[in-house]
Amino acid sequence: MRNGICTKCGRATVYSGRDMPAKASTGNTVPIDFQHSAALDNYVCIGCGYVERYISDPQALERIGKQWRDATRKRKNDAR
Ligand SMILES: [Zn+2]
Repeated sequence: MRNGICTKCGRATVYSGRDMPAKASTGNTVPIDFQHSAALDNYVCIGCGYVERYISDPQALERIGKQWRDATRKRKNDAR
């Protein structure tokens, strides 16, 4: 997706909101904790409408790595 090719339809019709000044505006963020959130870079294929989102702020990624649970870690009561 980030290389301009849509991962769903294969067309080179992907546009990026990465450099949009208002990219952290309403709803376009991931909450990290009570005080922090990370802005999302949206990649949209105008061929099929598929959307992918990424966090590009290295500090936000580092904070998530320190504060969030590793998704591969299983909990005792997971019903899997
Ligand atoms: Zn597409």
